Amino acid sequence: MKDTLRVVVVGAAGRMGQAIIAVANSESVEIISKLDQGDQITSAGADVLIDFSQPTAGDAVCDAGLKTNTPLVIGTTGHSAAQRKAIESAANRLPIVLAPNFSIGVNALFWLTEQAARILGDSFDLEIVEMHHRLKKDAPSGTARTLAEILQRERKTTRLRHGREGMLGERDPFEIGIHAIRGGDVVGDHMVIFAGNGERLELTHRAASRETFARGALRAAHWVIGRKPGLYDMRDVLGLK
Ligand code: NAD
Repeated sequence: MKDTLRVVVVGAAGRMGQAIIAVANSESVEIISKLDQGDQITSAGADVLIDFSQPTAGDAVCDAGLKTNTPLVIGTTGHSAAQRKAIESAANRLPIVLAPNFSIGVNALFWLTEQAARILGDSFDLEIVEMHHRLKKDAPSGTARTLAEILQRERKTTRLRHGREGMLGERDPFEIGIHAIRGGDVVGDHMVIFAGNGERLELTHRAASRETFARGALRAAHWVIGRKPGLYDMRDVLGLK
């Protein structure tokens, strides 16, 4: 039986905030404070602060954690380079789990993508397609960005092509295409396509509910307690590294 964790949720009125509140009890978590836009962000009295809001809250989230020495679990996506730097700098003093996707299936997809890229080599064209609900604000998704980073690392290329339009000429063999589709109430689909001559491999993950992200974030919250300062991701939590 896990000890009950005392957790502050930032973005509590949002879709993910509500999903976390809904499963908290069954994951041995007590939500001691539900913060949203307009509230002063503080982690006083909490074991962990969980953030699923907007990137603009990032600085206040880090300041709150640093002030009370409270570990952070950050699920918010779309941080700018400067906002990301602030999180990295806070991670010099706090353990922080920052993950664009807390589902186990997507973290398996990250691993499979790395393996497929290694096996297939340079002769396969790489494309990433993601689809999300019409209310999602950032594009491409944080998960698609992570998939791109994995492929860039394996392919040793930095060329990302965000969508295509017009007379672009033939496909650059070194580019990685990324396509963001928006519509309806889709929770989150991601597909990585490896297109070769005469064959094509597609790795697809579809999330059907936000519960999987919420349970993953709470698992990360239990895991981060007592860790050394540092920036961790879900692969650390799941022991996939
Ligand atoms: P949402 O728009 O439904 O909810 C966001 C909430 O944050 C809103 O209630 C909003 O009022 C609040 N908010 C905005 N700015 C704030 C601030 N400065 N301080 C406090 N609260 C603030 O969005 P959502 O679908 O719940 O997603 C939230 C974030 O989580 C997005 O960045 C999304 O991409 C990300 N997300 C991550 C995962 C994951 O597994 N890591 C999964 C789903 C969504």
